[in-house]
Amino acid sequence: MDFDRIQYILAPEELEKKRVVVIGLGSGGAPVVQHLAMSGVRKWSLFDPDLLDEVNLVKHPGMRKDLGKTKIAVIAEWLMDRNPDSEIREFPEDILDSTDFEREARNAHLIISATDTLSVRQFINRIAVRHGIPCVTASVFRTAFGGEVYSYIPGKTGCYQCMNIVSGKLGWGNIENQVEMTEDEQDRIYGLGQEDYRASGLSMDIAIISAIMAKRALSLLLDSPNPVYFPQDSSNYLIFYMRGMGSIPSLSSLKYAIPAQKDCFCSFNDGEESAANEISDLE
Ligand SMILES: [Zn+2]
Repeated sequence: MDFDRIQYILAPEELEKKRVVVIGLGSGGAPVVQHLAMSGVRKWSLFDPDLLDEVNLVKHPGMRKDLGKTKIAVIAEWLMDRNPDSEIREFPEDILDSTDFEREARNAHLIISATDTLSVRQFINRIAVRHGIPCVTASVFRTAFGGEVYSYIPGKTGCYQCMNIVSGKLGWGNIENQVEMTEDEQDRIYGLGQEDYRASGLSMDIAIISAIMAKRALSLLLDSPNPVYFPQDSSNYLIFYMRGMGSIPSLSSLKYAIPAQKDCFCSFNDGEESAANEISDLE
């Protein structure tokens, strides 16, 4: 792959040896993989059991000819086309039942957590903390009125659960409740009992969160990111608002630095055993 046009920004050879584990290759995770691949990442461990469905075509980069294939197969084909030197390990499986996930995560340089299920994000966080692997977690809020990107940097920041603890202490509440339910959501949740249903957003709104996630991920993967293109930033938690919300204008962000919380398991993780016990508690 010829990186001539971006060599002044980064050194792709720094990225070609780094393995990135990705959980979730939907409309949020797939563009993150594409951005990182075009910057030089070529070693992947991909996890997602889902198949590409026709309803995904409004927001996923997969093509109509790909319908019915696993999202992993779709993205793997794209990766091999874009960079024939890609090395891809494909795991079309649910990580909660996977015997491969922890091994892949332990040997990775970075974990990309792009699943839309909170309990799975929390599970991934615990594995990241247990093995001290940086992890970037992102999610898009209902209707994509905004989204959040959280970076866990072992020894430097709090973990994803620390953010939830801080949120509770400060009474931030559930950000997703800041917007009223759509009629469709009310019908499905209260009428049809689809409790987990969340109205989707437009591809472009999801893409903004994906691009921010890729940017955060890239700055963690580079050995010495160029400060001109990757400005030093002490924040590790970013909330982006597509729409205006109270005093917050549209297309703006709030940023926070979340330190490790002493009442979080990541702070008393003095060995694998204590973290392992925590994971047992979760289950
Ligand atoms: Zn923590």
